Amino acid sequence: MSVERPEVLVVAPVMPFLMDALRGAVTVHDRLHLNDPAAFAAAAPRIRAVVATGESKVPAKLIAQLPALEMITVFGVGYDGVDVAAARARGIPVTHTPGVLNDDVADLALGLLISAARRIPQADRFVRGGEWLKGPIPVARKVAGSRLGVVGMGRIGQAIAQRALAFRMDVAYTARSPRENLPYTYHPDAAALAAAVDFLVVITPGGAATRGLIDAKVLQALGPQGYLVNVARGSVVDQPALIAALQAGTIAGAALDVFADEPNVPAELLAMDNVVLTPHIGSGTRQTREAMAQLTFDNLRAHFAGEPLLTPVPA
Ligand code: NAP
Repeated sequence: MSVERPEVLVVAPVMPFLMDALRGAVTVHDRLHLNDPAAFAAAAPRIRAVVATGESKVPAKLIAQLPALEMITVFGVGYDGVDVAAARARGIPVTHTPGVLNDDVADLALGLLISAARRIPQADRFVRGGEWLKGPIPVARKVAGSRLGVVGMGRIGQAIAQRALAFRMDVAYTARSPRENLPYTYHPDAAALAAAVDFLVVITPGGAATRGLIDAKVLQALGPQGYLVNVARGSVVDQPALIAALQAGTIAGAALDVFADEPNVPAELLAMDNVVLTPHIGSGTRQTREAMAQLTFDNLRAHFAGEPLLTPVPA
């Protein structure tokens, strides 16, 4: 980095590994815009980069408050919280952390799928609650050899499909366009895919283009024996429609890592026994979070060294 330490705004809590790397190289303003508006107003003209997380927001208003902003680096592959169009209009590049989290998110997707079908969390509660002493737990749903539908066959979707093959699952998918190099059956939309599978796993980006993609019609198509797994973004699933479908038995169950208004989870979902809930932990292992932190930092470092960015978001 240059002799003069660049000033950087960190807009959300970040792991110590990343914060330590940042503090070693730049002057960090940790959530100054939220914690001390007057100090932020004074520092804003000098801020040259923003560090964000996959869940945090970098709206056009914040970008407009930073006249010296040169780049935005996101700790996460999803960047739907960043107003990329507003950044691009000023020629400000945005980077993210694709690839390094594929394994973890795919592992969790399969873990959630099996948890929903085999009712592992419910079985754990059954043992802890002494219910086993009164009799056996009801039988569950077989996973091996079943039909899997993946909504979004990108980096993570393909990692999910690879794992599903080890379970002899029949894999199909939907996306806006088919991937000719993949051996899986393509369906033109989510409803057609849902009608053809037992388990529907959602792993598209969030944002306006996918908002409510999984709606009442798709859940109806998935049917009373079908399970929904969402590891994408809460916005991709119409959450009220999902709650209604679960309550009515329109689908058999769901496993959710992401929600419409995190960390708030609707009471209806908390109360349901056929739902498995996790707190947005798709990439949540120490190993992967450190790899994401390194890539987030390396993009920042590359920018200030005048080198090409490692992983800019696609144009
Ligand atoms: P990616 O490689 O860009 O793949 C995205 C896939 O979604 C592509 O197959 C894309 O295909 C498809 N897609 C995009 N827009 C669509 C639409 N409107 N309708 C249907 N399909 C659409 O991204 P990735 O690295 O796999 O990551 C996917 C997403 O996972 C991230 O953006 C993030 O939101 C989420 N994620 C969640 C966690 C977690 O903690 N739960 C962790 C990491 C990532 P087409 O372009 O052909 O449509």
